[in-house]
Amino acid sequence: MLGLMQDWPLLCHRIIDHAALNHGERPVISRSIEGPIHITKFSAIRARALRVAQRLERDGVKRGDRVATLAWNTWRHLESWYGILGIGAVYHTVNPRLFTDQIAWIINHAEDRMIMTDVTFLPILEKIAGHTPTVERTIVFCDGAHLPKTTLRNAVAYEDWIAEVDGDFSWKSFDENTAAGMCYTSGTTGNPKGVLYSHRSNVLHAMAALRPDMVGLSMSDIAMPVVPLFHANGWALGFAGPMAGASLVLPGQKLDGASIYDLLTQFKVTCTAAVPTVWLALLQHLEKTGGKLTHLRRVVIGGSACPRAMISTFQDVYGVEVIHAWGMTEMSPLGTTCTLKPEYAELKGEALLDVQQKQGHAPFGVEMKITDDAGQRMPWDGKTFGRLKVRGPAVARAYFKDDGQILDDEGFFDTGDVGTIDRYGYLNITDRSKDVIKSGGEWISSIELENLAVGHPKVAEAAVIGVRHPRWGERPLLIVVPKEGQAASKDELLGFLGGKVAKWWVPDDVVFVAEIPHTATGKIQKTALREQFKTYALPTAVAARGP
Ligand code: AMP
Repeated sequence: MLGLMQDWPLLCHRIIDHAALNHGERPVISRSIEGPIHITKFSAIRARALRVAQRLERDGVKRGDRVATLAWNTWRHLESWYGILGIGAVYHTVNPRLFTDQIAWIINHAEDRMIMTDVTFLPILEKIAGHTPTVERTIVFCDGAHLPKTTLRNAVAYEDWIAEVDGDFSWKSFDENTAAGMCYTSGTTGNPKGVLYSHRSNVLHAMAALRPDMVGLSMSDIAMPVVPLFHANGWALGFAGPMAGASLVLPGQKLDGASIYDLLTQFKVTCTAAVPTVWLALLQHLEKTGGKLTHLRRVVIGGSACPRAMISTFQDVYGVEVIHAWGMTEMSPLGTTCTLKPEYAELKGEALLDVQQKQGHAPFGVEMKITDDAGQRMPWDGKTFGRLKVRGPAVARAYFKDDGQILDDEGFFDTGDVGTIDRYGYLNITDRSKDVIKSGGEWISSIELENLAVGHPKVAEAAVIGVRHPRWGERPLLIVVPKEGQAASKDELLGFLGGKVAKWWVPDDVVFVAEIPHTATGKIQKTALREQFKTYALPTAVAARGP
Protein backbone atom coordinates (compact mmCIF):
# COMPACT_ATOMS: atom_id res chain seq x y z
CA MET A 1 0.00 0.00 0.00
CA LEU A 2 1.37 3.43 -0.92
CA GLY A 3 1.11 6.48 1.30
CA LEU A 4 -1.40 9.10 0.36
CA MET A 5 0.84 12.15 0.40
CA GLN A 6 1.51 14.49 -2.50
CA ASP A 7 4.12 13.81 -5.11
CA TRP A 8 6.37 16.88 -4.71
CA PRO A 9 9.68 16.09 -6.38
CA LEU A 10 12.72 17.42 -4.53
CA LEU A 11 13.87 19.86 -7.22
CA CYS A 12 16.61 22.40 -6.51
CA HIS A 13 14.80 25.33 -8.14
CA ARG A 14 12.08 24.95 -5.50
CA ILE A 15 14.71 26.25 -3.07
CA ILE A 16 15.05 29.60 -4.82
CA ASP A 17 11.24 29.76 -5.19
CA HIS A 18 10.98 29.34 -1.43
CA ALA A 19 13.64 31.96 -0.76
CA ALA A 20 12.05 34.47 -3.15
CA LEU A 21 8.58 34.02 -1.72
CA ASN A 22 9.39 33.79 1.98
CA HIS A 23 12.67 35.70 2.27
CA GLY A 24 12.50 37.77 -0.90
CA GLU A 25 14.00 40.93 0.59
CA ARG A 26 16.99 39.17 2.18
CA PRO A 27 20.21 40.70 0.82
CA VAL A 28 22.71 38.87 -1.34
CA ILE A 29 25.87 40.95 -1.23
CA SER A 30 28.84 40.34 -3.54
CA ARG A 31 32.22 41.83 -4.12
CA SER A 32 31.91 42.12 -7.88
CA ILE A 33 34.77 41.19 -10.17
CA GLU A 34 34.57 44.74 -11.54
CA GLY A 35 35.37 45.97 -8.02
CA PRO A 36 32.41 47.63 -6.28
CA ILE A 37 30.11 45.91 -3.81
CA HIS A 38 26.88 44.74 -5.45
CA ILE A 39 23.69 44.19 -3.43
CA THR A 40 20.66 42.26 -4.60
CA LYS A 41 18.02 40.05 -2.92
CA PHE A 42 16.56 36.58 -3.27
CA SER A 43 13.49 37.72 -5.22
CA ALA A 44 15.76 39.35 -7.81
CA ILE A 45 18.08 36.33 -7.93
CA ARG A 46 15.09 34.15 -8.79
CA ALA A 47 13.80 36.57 -11.42
CA ARG A 48 17.19 36.68 -13.14
CA ALA A 49 17.68 32.91 -12.80
CA LEU A 50 14.43 32.50 -14.76
CA ARG A 51 15.91 34.71 -17.49
CA VAL A 52 19.02 32.51 -17.54
CA ALA A 53 16.79 29.45 -17.94
CA GLN A 54 14.74 31.06 -20.69
CA ARG A 55 17.85 32.30 -22.52
CA LEU A 56 19.58 28.93 -22.31
CA GLU A 57 16.53 27.32 -23.87
CA ARG A 58 16.65 29.87 -26.69
CA ASP A 59 20.28 28.85 -27.27
CA GLY A 60 19.05 25.28 -27.60
CA VAL A 61 20.26 23.94 -24.25
CA LYS A 62 18.19 20.92 -23.28
CA ARG A 63 17.64 18.64 -20.32
CA GLY A 64 20.82 16.76 -19.47
CA ASP A 65 23.12 19.19 -21.33
CA ARG A 66 26.12 20.37 -19.32
CA VAL A 67 26.79 24.06 -18.85
CA ALA A 68 30.16 24.81 -17.29
CA THR A 69 30.78 27.62 -14.85
CA LEU A 70 34.36 28.81 -14.35
CA ALA A 71 33.74 31.59 -11.89
CA TRP A 72 34.15 33.15 -8.46
CA ASN A 73 31.34 33.36 -5.91
CA THR A 74 29.08 36.23 -6.99
CA TRP A 75 25.35 36.77 -7.44
CA ARG A 76 25.66 36.08 -11.18
CA HIS A 77 27.22 32.69 -10.56
CA LEU A 78 24.51 31.80 -8.04
CA GLU A 79 21.61 32.80 -10.29
CA SER A 80 23.21 30.85 -13.15
CA TRP A 81 23.22 27.67 -11.09
CA TYR A 82 19.50 27.95 -10.58
CA GLY A 83 18.85 28.99 -14.18
CA ILE A 84 20.79 26.02 -15.54
CA LEU A 85 19.28 23.37 -13.30
CA GLY A 86 15.78 24.89 -13.61
CA ILE A 87 15.46 23.52 -17.16
CA GLY A 88 16.98 20.18 -16.25
CA ALA A 89 20.42 21.08 -17.61
CA VAL A 90 23.48 20.41 -15.44
CA TYR A 91 25.73 23.05 -13.87
CA HIS A 92 29.31 21.90 -14.11
CA THR A 93 31.63 23.83 -11.83
CA VAL A 94 35.19 23.90 -13.13
CA ASN A 95 38.04 24.73 -10.78
CA PRO A 96 40.11 27.50 -12.40
CA ARG A 97 43.08 26.62 -10.20
CA LEU A 98 43.63 23.38 -12.11
CA PHE A 99 46.30 23.21 -14.80
CA THR A 100 45.03 24.51 -18.13
CA ASP A 101 45.21 21.13 -19.87
CA GLN A 102 43.29 19.54 -16.97
CA ILE A 103 40.58 22.16 -17.42
CA ALA A 104 40.38 21.29 -21.11
CA TRP A 105 40.27 17.58 -20.29
CA ILE A 106 37.40 18.08 -17.84
CA ILE A 107 35.39 20.28 -20.23
CA ASN A 108 35.80 17.67 -22.96
CA HIS A 109 34.94 14.77 -20.70
CA ALA A 110 31.81 16.56 -19.49
CA GLU A 111 31.02 17.62 -23.10
CA ASP A 112 30.06 21.09 -21.91
CA ARG A 113 28.01 23.02 -24.47
CA MET A 114 28.30 26.47 -22.89
CA ILE A 115 30.75 28.08 -20.51
CA MET A 116 29.73 30.85 -18.13
CA THR A 117 32.77 32.62 -16.78
CA ASP A 118 34.31 35.70 -15.22
CA VAL A 119 36.46 38.15 -17.16
CA THR A 120 39.38 36.88 -15.04
CA PHE A 121 39.38 33.50 -16.75
CA LEU A 122 39.15 34.54 -20.40
CA PRO A 123 42.90 34.03 -20.95
CA ILE A 124 42.59 30.40 -19.78
CA LEU A 125 39.63 29.76 -22.07
CA GLU A 126 41.31 31.47 -25.02
CA LYS A 127 44.30 29.18 -24.55
CA ILE A 128 42.21 25.99 -24.70
CA ALA A 129 39.55 27.15 -27.19
CA GLY A 130 41.07 25.12 -30.03
CA HIS A 131 40.90 21.95 -27.93
CA THR A 132 37.33 22.12 -26.58
CA PRO A 133 35.14 21.34 -29.61
CA THR A 134 31.88 20.79 -27.70
CA VAL A 135 31.76 24.39 -26.42
CA GLU A 136 29.43 26.48 -28.57
CA ARG A 137 29.37 29.73 -26.64
CA THR A 138 31.02 31.64 -23.80
CA ILE A 139 28.88 33.85 -21.60
CA VAL A 140 30.98 36.33 -19.66
CA PHE A 141 29.72 37.48 -16.23
CA CYS A 142 29.75 41.24 -16.93
CA ASP A 143 27.85 43.89 -18.84
CA GLY A 144 28.66 44.95 -22.39
CA ALA A 145 30.84 47.82 -21.21
CA HIS A 146 33.12 45.46 -19.26
CA LEU A 147 33.45 42.77 -21.93
CA PRO A 148 37.07 42.76 -23.09
CA LYS A 149 38.08 41.97 -26.63
CA THR A 150 38.29 38.20 -26.90
CA THR A 151 39.05 35.65 -29.56
CA LEU A 152 36.47 33.27 -28.09
CA ARG A 153 33.83 32.08 -30.51
CA ASN A 154 30.38 33.49 -29.86
CA ALA A 155 31.31 35.27 -26.63
CA VAL A 156 28.65 37.51 -25.13
CA ALA A 157 28.30 39.65 -22.02
CA TYR A 158 25.93 37.96 -19.54
CA GLU A 159 23.89 41.11 -18.92
CA ASP A 160 23.30 41.61 -22.66
CA TRP A 161 22.51 37.95 -23.08
CA ILE A 162 19.82 37.79 -20.39
CA ALA A 163 18.41 41.14 -21.52
CA GLU A 164 17.35 39.43 -24.75
CA VAL A 165 14.50 37.61 -22.94
CA ASP A 166 11.66 38.91 -20.77
CA GLY A 167 11.82 36.45 -17.86
CA ASP A 168 8.23 35.33 -18.43
CA PHE A 169 9.12 31.70 -17.99
CA SER A 170 8.33 28.73 -15.74
CA TRP A 171 10.73 26.18 -14.37
CA LYS A 172 10.54 22.74 -15.84
CA SER A 173 9.34 19.85 -13.74
CA PHE A 174 10.85 16.39 -13.90
CA ASP A 175 11.89 13.44 -11.82
CA GLU A 176 13.84 14.40 -8.71
CA ASN A 177 16.58 11.92 -9.64
CA THR A 178 17.47 14.03 -12.70
CA ALA A 179 21.07 15.25 -12.73
CA ALA A 180 21.46 18.82 -11.43
CA GLY A 181 25.17 19.47 -11.02
CA MET A 182 28.59 18.11 -11.64
CA CYS A 183 31.99 18.49 -10.08
CA TYR A 184 35.23 16.66 -10.86
CA THR A 185 37.36 15.38 -8.02
CA SER A 186 40.80 16.86 -7.75
CA GLY A 187 42.28 13.33 -8.00
CA THR A 188 45.98 13.28 -7.10
CA THR A 189 46.53 10.32 -9.41
CA GLY A 190 44.95 9.47 -12.76
CA ASN A 191 42.39 11.57 -14.55
CA PRO A 192 39.80 13.58 -12.60
CA LYS A 193 36.50 11.82 -12.00
CA GLY A 194 33.09 13.37 -12.52
CA VAL A 195 30.64 13.33 -9.62
CA LEU A 196 27.06 13.91 -10.76
CA TYR A 197 24.64 15.29 -8.17
CA SER A 198 20.90 14.89 -8.59
CA HIS A 199 18.19 17.36 -7.63
CA ARG A 200 17.09 14.97 -4.90
CA SER A 201 20.60 14.52 -3.48
CA ASN A 202 21.21 18.29 -3.41
CA VAL A 203 17.92 19.06 -1.70
CA LEU A 204 18.29 16.31 0.92
CA HIS A 205 21.89 17.33 1.49
CA ALA A 206 21.04 21.00 1.98
CA MET A 207 18.36 20.00 4.49
CA ALA A 208 20.95 17.95 6.40
CA ALA A 209 23.46 20.83 6.30
CA LEU A 210 20.90 23.14 7.88
CA ARG A 211 20.50 21.03 11.01
CA PRO A 212 21.60 22.93 14.13
CA ASP A 213 24.22 20.25 14.79
CA MET A 214 25.71 20.64 11.32
CA VAL A 215 26.23 24.09 9.79
CA GLY A 216 23.01 25.28 11.44
CA LEU A 217 22.09 28.24 9.24
CA SER A 218 18.98 30.25 10.07
CA MET A 219 17.21 33.23 8.52
CA SER A 220 18.91 35.45 11.10
CA ASP A 221 22.34 34.47 9.82
CA ILE A 222 24.50 36.46 7.46
CA ALA A 223 26.47 33.68 5.83
CA MET A 224 29.64 34.10 3.82
CA PRO A 225 30.68 31.05 1.78
CA VAL A 226 34.34 31.81 1.17
CA VAL A 227 34.66 28.26 -0.10
CA PRO A 228 34.21 28.68 -3.87
CA LEU A 229 31.15 27.25 -5.57
CA PHE A 230 33.66 25.32 -7.73
CA HIS A 231 35.06 23.47 -4.73
CA ALA A 232 33.05 20.32 -3.94
CA ASN A 233 29.57 21.64 -4.76
CA GLY A 234 30.25 24.81 -2.79
CA TRP A 235 29.84 22.82 0.44
CA ALA A 236 26.06 22.89 -0.18
CA LEU A 237 25.87 26.58 0.77
CA GLY A 238 24.40 27.70 -2.58
CA PHE A 239 21.35 25.63 -1.65
CA ALA A 240 21.40 25.70 2.16
CA GLY A 241 21.64 29.52 2.34
CA PRO A 242 18.50 30.26 0.28
CA MET A 243 16.71 27.29 1.87
CA ALA A 244 17.25 28.84 5.31
CA GLY A 245 16.57 32.37 4.09
CA ALA A 246 19.99 33.44 5.38
CA SER A 247 21.58 36.57 3.93
CA LEU A 248 24.57 35.80 1.75
CA VAL A 249 27.87 37.59 1.35
CA LEU A 250 29.78 36.37 -1.71
CA PRO A 251 33.44 37.36 -1.68
CA GLY A 252 34.21 37.26 -5.41
CA GLN A 253 37.84 37.03 -6.33
CA LYS A 254 39.67 38.52 -3.35
CA LEU A 255 40.26 35.85 -0.73
CA ASP A 256 43.25 37.38 1.10
CA GLY A 257 43.08 38.07 4.84
CA ALA A 258 42.44 41.81 4.55
CA SER A 259 39.65 41.47 1.96
CA ILE A 260 37.90 38.72 3.91
CA TYR A 261 38.17 40.75 7.13
CA ASP A 262 36.72 43.76 5.36
CA LEU A 263 33.60 41.80 4.31
CA LEU A 264 33.23 40.10 7.71
CA THR A 265 33.10 43.43 9.51
CA GLN A 266 31.39 45.64 6.93
CA PHE A 267 28.46 43.24 6.49
CA LYS A 268 28.35 41.80 10.03
CA VAL A 269 28.80 38.22 8.84
CA THR A 270 27.69 35.68 11.49
CA CYS A 271 28.76 32.40 9.85
CA THR A 272 31.42 31.60 7.30
CA ALA A 273 33.13 28.57 5.77
CA ALA A 274 36.44 27.78 4.05
CA VAL A 275 39.58 25.65 4.06
CA PRO A 276 42.29 26.19 6.72
CA THR A 277 44.58 28.11 4.32
CA VAL A 278 42.04 30.94 4.08
CA TRP A 279 41.72 31.15 7.87
CA LEU A 280 45.47 31.09 8.31
CA ALA A 281 45.64 34.24 6.17
CA LEU A 282 42.81 35.89 8.13
CA LEU A 283 44.41 35.09 11.51
CA GLN A 284 47.76 36.44 10.33
CA HIS A 285 46.01 39.62 9.22
CA LEU A 286 44.28 39.96 12.59
CA GLU A 287 47.53 39.37 14.45
CA LYS A 288 49.21 42.11 12.40
CA THR A 289 46.41 44.67 12.59
CA GLY A 290 44.87 43.93 15.98
CA GLY A 291 41.44 43.48 14.33
CA LYS A 292 38.47 41.90 16.17
CA LEU A 293 35.73 39.58 14.97
CA THR A 294 32.76 41.30 16.53
CA HIS A 295 29.81 39.73 14.72
CA LEU A 296 31.15 36.37 13.63
CA ARG A 297 29.72 33.49 15.68
CA ARG A 298 30.69 30.35 13.75
CA VAL A 299 33.41 29.40 11.30
CA VAL A 300 33.18 26.11 9.43
CA ILE A 301 36.64 24.73 8.64
CA GLY A 302 37.18 21.68 6.44
CA GLY A 303 38.68 20.39 3.23
CA SER A 304 41.77 19.40 5.15
CA ALA A 305 42.41 18.88 8.84
CA CYS A 306 41.94 21.98 10.96
CA PRO A 307 45.03 22.56 13.13
CA ARG A 308 44.41 22.56 16.85
CA ALA A 309 46.10 25.97 17.20
CA MET A 310 43.61 27.45 14.73
CA ILE A 311 40.64 26.17 16.73
CA SER A 312 41.97 27.59 19.98
CA THR A 313 42.91 30.96 18.43
CA PHE A 314 39.46 31.45 16.91
CA GLN A 315 37.73 30.45 20.12
CA ASP A 316 39.96 31.78 22.88
CA VAL A 317 41.29 34.96 21.25
CA TYR A 318 38.37 35.99 19.03
CA GLY A 319 35.35 34.28 20.66
CA VAL A 320 34.29 32.49 17.44
CA GLU A 321 33.08 28.89 17.58
CA VAL A 322 34.91 26.54 15.21
CA ILE A 323 32.96 23.79 13.47
CA HIS A 324 35.47 21.36 12.08
CA ALA A 325 33.94 19.56 9.11
CA TRP A 326 34.94 16.63 6.95
CA GLY A 327 33.61 15.63 3.59
CA MET A 328 34.46 15.09 -0.03
CA THR A 329 33.23 15.88 -3.52
CA GLU A 330 31.67 12.41 -3.73
CA MET A 331 29.56 13.21 -0.63
CA SER A 332 27.97 16.44 -1.95
CA PRO A 333 30.26 17.13 0.12
CA LEU A 334 29.44 17.32 3.85
CA GLY A 335 30.14 14.10 5.77
CA THR A 336 30.60 15.01 9.42
CA THR A 337 30.68 18.14 11.56
CA CYS A 338 32.25 18.49 14.97
CA THR A 339 29.56 20.08 17.08
CA LEU A 340 29.31 19.00 20.70
CA LYS A 341 27.03 16.18 21.79
CA PRO A 342 25.71 16.33 25.37
CA GLU A 343 28.24 13.63 26.28
CA TYR A 344 31.01 16.17 25.61
CA ALA A 345 29.22 19.37 26.59
CA GLU A 346 31.09 19.83 29.88
CA LEU A 347 34.57 19.65 28.37
CA LYS A 348 36.88 22.62 28.70
CA GLY A 349 40.42 23.62 27.66
CA GLU A 350 42.67 20.95 26.19
CA ALA A 351 40.07 18.19 26.63
CA LEU A 352 37.61 20.22 24.56
CA LEU A 353 40.22 20.81 21.85
CA ASP A 354 40.95 17.06 21.81
CA VAL A 355 37.37 16.53 20.66
CA GLN A 356 37.09 19.56 18.39
CA GLN A 357 40.17 18.51 16.52
CA LYS A 358 38.24 15.43 15.42
CA GLN A 359 36.16 15.69 12.25
CA GLY A 360 32.92 15.06 14.12
CA HIS A 361 29.76 13.02 13.81
CA ALA A 362 27.49 12.15 10.91
CA PRO A 363 24.01 13.60 10.38
CA PHE A 364 20.97 11.57 9.37
CA GLY A 365 21.68 10.60 5.77
CA VAL A 366 25.35 9.70 6.22
CA GLU A 367 26.12 6.18 7.41
CA MET A 368 29.75 5.44 8.24
CA LYS A 369 31.78 2.32 8.93
CA ILE A 370 35.47 1.64 9.36
CA THR A 371 36.87 -1.63 8.14
CA ASP A 372 40.14 -3.50 7.88
CA ASP A 373 41.65 -4.24 4.47
CA ALA A 374 39.48 -7.37 4.16
CA GLY A 375 36.31 -5.33 4.67
CA GLN A 376 35.59 -6.51 8.24
CA ARG A 377 33.98 -3.82 10.42
CA MET A 378 36.25 -2.39 13.13
CA PRO A 379 35.05 -1.26 16.55
CA TRP A 380 34.05 2.33 17.38
CA ASP A 381 36.49 2.65 20.28
CA GLY A 382 38.34 5.82 19.26
CA LYS A 383 41.57 3.81 18.93
CA THR A 384 41.24 1.29 16.12
CA PHE A 385 42.17 2.69 12.69
CA GLY A 386 40.21 1.57 9.67
CA ARG A 387 39.30 2.43 6.12
CA LEU A 388 36.41 4.86 6.22
CA LYS A 389 33.39 3.93 4.10
CA VAL A 390 30.12 5.81 3.70
CA ARG A 391 26.60 5.32 2.40
CA GLY A 392 23.70 7.71 1.92
CA PRO A 393 21.36 9.50 -0.49
CA ALA A 394 23.94 12.23 -1.25
CA VAL A 395 26.92 9.87 -1.72
CA ALA A 396 28.10 8.94 -5.24
CA ARG A 397 27.29 5.44 -6.50
CA ALA A 398 29.33 5.77 -9.72
CA TYR A 399 31.43 8.31 -11.61
CA PHE A 400 30.30 9.99 -14.82
CA LYS A 401 31.01 7.90 -17.95
CA ASP A 402 32.84 5.31 -15.88
CA ASP A 403 31.70 1.72 -15.48
CA GLY A 404 33.99 1.03 -12.53
CA GLN A 405 32.37 -0.45 -9.42
CA ILE A 406 32.93 1.94 -6.50
CA LEU A 407 30.66 0.46 -3.84
CA ASP A 408 31.27 -2.59 -1.65
CA ASP A 409 28.67 -5.36 -1.36
CA GLU A 410 26.83 -3.41 1.35
CA GLY A 411 26.63 -0.34 -0.90
CA PHE A 412 29.32 1.64 0.93
CA PHE A 413 31.77 3.93 -0.89
CA ASP A 414 35.43 3.76 0.17
CA THR A 415 36.46 7.36 0.93
CA GLY A 416 40.18 6.62 0.70
CA ASP A 417 40.51 8.09 4.19
CA VAL A 418 41.69 6.25 7.26
CA GLY A 419 40.36 7.06 10.69
CA THR A 420 39.00 6.05 14.05
CA ILE A 421 35.45 6.49 15.35
CA ASP A 422 34.84 6.84 19.08
CA ARG A 423 31.94 5.42 21.07
CA TYR A 424 29.93 8.61 20.63
CA GLY A 425 30.34 8.45 16.84
CA TYR A 426 33.07 11.08 16.45
CA LEU A 427 35.24 10.42 13.43
CA ASN A 428 38.93 11.24 13.61
CA ILE A 429 40.65 11.20 10.21
CA THR A 430 44.20 10.09 10.68
CA ASP A 431 45.26 10.13 7.04
CA ARG A 432 44.49 9.51 3.42
CA SER A 433 45.10 5.79 3.08
CA LYS A 434 48.05 6.47 0.78
CA ASP A 435 49.60 9.03 3.15
CA VAL A 436 49.71 6.87 6.29
CA ILE A 437 53.30 6.31 7.39
CA LYS A 438 53.98 2.64 8.04
CA SER A 439 56.82 2.31 10.50
CA GLY A 440 57.80 -1.18 11.60
CA GLY A 441 54.31 -2.48 10.78
CA GLU A 442 52.59 0.21 12.88
CA TRP A 443 50.78 3.26 11.50
CA ILE A 444 51.78 6.85 12.20
CA SER A 445 49.29 9.60 11.44
CA SER A 446 50.85 12.35 9.32
CA ILE A 447 47.85 14.63 10.00
CA GLU A 448 48.32 14.45 13.76
CA LEU A 449 52.00 15.33 13.52
CA GLU A 450 51.27 18.20 11.12
CA ASN A 451 48.62 19.59 13.44
CA LEU A 452 51.01 19.52 16.36
CA ALA A 453 53.86 21.07 14.39
CA VAL A 454 51.80 24.09 13.26
CA GLY A 455 51.07 24.70 16.94
CA HIS A 456 54.71 25.79 17.31
CA PRO A 457 54.92 29.60 17.31
CA LYS A 458 57.65 29.71 14.66
CA VAL A 459 55.88 27.39 12.17
CA ALA A 460 53.65 28.74 9.38
CA GLU A 461 52.92 25.42 7.65
CA ALA A 462 54.03 21.82 8.08
CA ALA A 463 53.79 18.56 6.19
CA VAL A 464 54.86 15.09 7.25
CA ILE A 465 55.64 12.30 4.78
CA GLY A 466 57.04 8.81 5.05
CA VAL A 467 60.60 8.37 3.78
CA ARG A 468 62.18 4.97 3.09
CA HIS A 469 64.13 3.56 5.99
CA PRO A 470 66.25 0.35 5.90
CA ARG A 471 65.11 -0.88 9.29
CA TRP A 472 61.55 0.42 9.78
CA GLY A 473 60.31 0.49 6.18
CA GLU A 474 59.32 4.15 6.50
CA ARG A 475 59.99 6.88 9.00
CA PRO A 476 58.40 10.34 9.22
CA LEU A 477 60.12 13.42 7.81
CA LEU A 478 58.82 16.81 8.95
CA ILE A 479 58.83 19.54 6.29
CA VAL A 480 58.38 23.05 7.65
CA VAL A 481 57.73 26.52 6.27
CA PRO A 482 58.87 28.88 9.05
CA LYS A 483 56.85 32.00 9.85
CA GLU A 484 58.18 35.17 8.24
CA GLY A 485 61.36 36.34 9.97
CA GLN A 486 61.53 33.26 12.24
CA ALA A 487 64.19 30.59 12.32
CA ALA A 488 63.40 27.43 14.26
CA SER A 489 65.97 24.67 14.77
CA LYS A 490 65.44 20.98 14.19
CA ASP A 491 66.00 20.16 17.86
CA GLU A 492 63.58 22.84 18.97
CA LEU A 493 60.80 21.42 16.78
CA LEU A 494 61.42 17.77 17.57
CA GLY A 495 61.62 18.64 21.26
CA PHE A 496 58.25 20.40 20.94
CA LEU A 497 56.65 17.27 19.45
CA GLY A 498 58.49 14.96 21.84
CA GLY A 499 56.21 15.30 24.84
CA LYS A 500 53.03 15.21 22.79
CA VAL A 501 53.19 11.91 20.87
CA ALA A 502 54.61 8.44 21.43
CA LYS A 503 58.38 8.49 21.15
CA TRP A 504 58.40 6.38 17.98
CA TRP A 505 56.07 8.87 16.25
CA VAL A 506 58.59 11.72 16.52
CA PRO A 507 59.96 12.44 12.99
CA ASP A 508 63.52 11.39 12.27
CA ASP A 509 64.45 14.68 10.65
CA VAL A 510 63.24 18.18 9.78
CA VAL A 511 63.75 20.11 6.56
CA PHE A 512 62.97 23.80 6.17
CA VAL A 513 61.49 24.98 2.88
CA ALA A 514 60.18 28.28 1.52
CA GLU A 515 56.96 26.75 0.24
CA ILE A 516 54.91 23.55 0.40
CA PRO A 517 53.11 22.56 -2.83
CA HIS A 518 49.28 22.60 -2.79
CA THR A 519 46.61 21.03 -4.97
CA ALA A 520 44.01 23.11 -6.80
CA THR A 521 41.70 22.81 -3.79
CA GLY A 522 44.32 23.98 -1.30
CA LYS A 523 45.40 20.61 0.10
CA ILE A 524 49.04 19.76 0.71
CA GLN A 525 50.28 17.85 -2.32
CA LYS A 526 51.82 14.84 -0.66
CA THR A 527 52.56 13.10 -3.96
CA ALA A 528 54.76 16.01 -5.03
CA LEU A 529 56.53 16.06 -1.67
CA ARG A 530 57.12 12.30 -1.76
CA GLU A 531 58.61 12.68 -5.23
CA GLN A 532 60.79 15.60 -4.10
CA PHE A 533 62.14 13.70 -1.08
CA LYS A 534 62.20 10.25 -2.72
CA THR A 535 65.91 9.83 -2.20
CA TYR A 536 66.20 11.80 1.04
CA ALA A 537 68.70 10.17 3.38
CA LEU A 538 67.40 10.26 6.94
CA PRO A 539 70.22 10.51 9.50
CA THR A 540 68.72 7.47 11.26
CA ALA A 541 68.79 5.51 7.99
CA VAL A 542 72.49 6.19 7.59
CA ALA A 543 73.05 5.09 11.19
CA ALA A 544 70.95 1.91 10.71
CA ARG A 545 72.91 0.96 7.59
CA GLY A 546 76.17 1.48 9.42
CA PRO A 547 79.46 2.85 8.07
P1 AMP B 1 37.72 16.93 -1.96
O1 AMP B 1 36.82 15.96 -2.62
O2 AMP B 1 38.66 17.61 -2.90
O3 AMP B 1 36.96 17.90 -1.12
O4 AMP B 1 38.67 16.12 -0.98
C1 AMP B 1 38.14 15.30 0.01
C2 AMP B 1 39.22 14.84 0.93
O5 AMP B 1 39.76 15.94 1.68
C3 AMP B 1 38.75 13.88 1.99
O6 AMP B 1 38.61 12.57 1.50
C4 AMP B 1 39.85 14.02 3.04
O7 AMP B 1 40.98 13.27 2.71
C5 AMP B 1 40.19 15.48 2.95
N1 AMP B 1 39.48 16.22 4.01
C6 AMP B 1 38.38 16.96 3.90
N2 AMP B 1 38.05 17.51 5.09
C7 AMP B 1 38.97 17.10 5.99
C8 AMP B 1 39.19 17.31 7.39
N3 AMP B 1 38.39 18.09 8.11
N4 AMP B 1 40.24 16.70 7.97
C9 AMP B 1 41.06 15.91 7.24
N5 AMP B 1 40.92 15.68 5.92
C10 AMP B 1 39.89 16.27 5.30
